[in-house]
Amino acid sequence: MYRKKLIELLQEKEWTVRELAGRFGVDEREIETELEHVRRSLKREGLRLEVEPARCRKCGFVFRKETLSKPGKCPECRSTWIAEPRVRIVPSK
Ligand SMILES: [Zn+2]
Repeated sequence: MYRKKLIELLQEKEWTVRELAGRFGVDEREIETELEHVRRSLKREGLRLEVEPARCRKCGFVFRKETLSKPGKCPECRSTWIAEPRVRIVPSK
């Protein structure tokens, strides 16, 4: 179980799901699942998971904050030139 380490890393800086998957040697899907658990457990510690949403680099479309993985293409302009979402942990409020 690496959840504790994951929380530590997320308090140090911003990460993409892909970077975290590489760091822990697991697939991105697993990191996404782990982040959902983390998101729920942080509340009682006065912390929260902050998401810088994915964004289309072509038209500027901003994806939903719930989307933690990199979207395949932009629903507005169909571009695949997408900035990956970034996550980190910050104190709530
Ligand atoms: Zn777009």
